[in-house]
Amino acid sequence: MEDAAARRNQYCPRCRGVVDWRAEHCPHCAAPIPAELRDYYNFSDFEAPVDRSDLGPILTALALAVLLALGLGFGAYWLLTRLF
Ligand SMILES: [Zn+2]
Repeated sequence: MEDAAARRNQYCPRCRGVVDWRAEHCPHCAAPIPAELRDYYNFSDFEAPVDRSDLGPILTALALAVLLALGLGFGAYWLLTRLF
């Protein structure tokens, strides 16, 4: 039970000190800990936050989709100017 409680920590937004997840004020610098931050860290216990490296393939796919759309647009324009 002590291990489970020890893992439920968060970081103070002002001094980056380790704070108990239920604390409303930082024990180091007395800064108020926002409830949203608490919820976020509780949520991250179950689901890891999105890693920046995961966005790479998504951005690449988006860039390819945009290039494809541009290519199709140019192709259609080229065809229309030839046909009419
Ligand atoms: Zn602090």
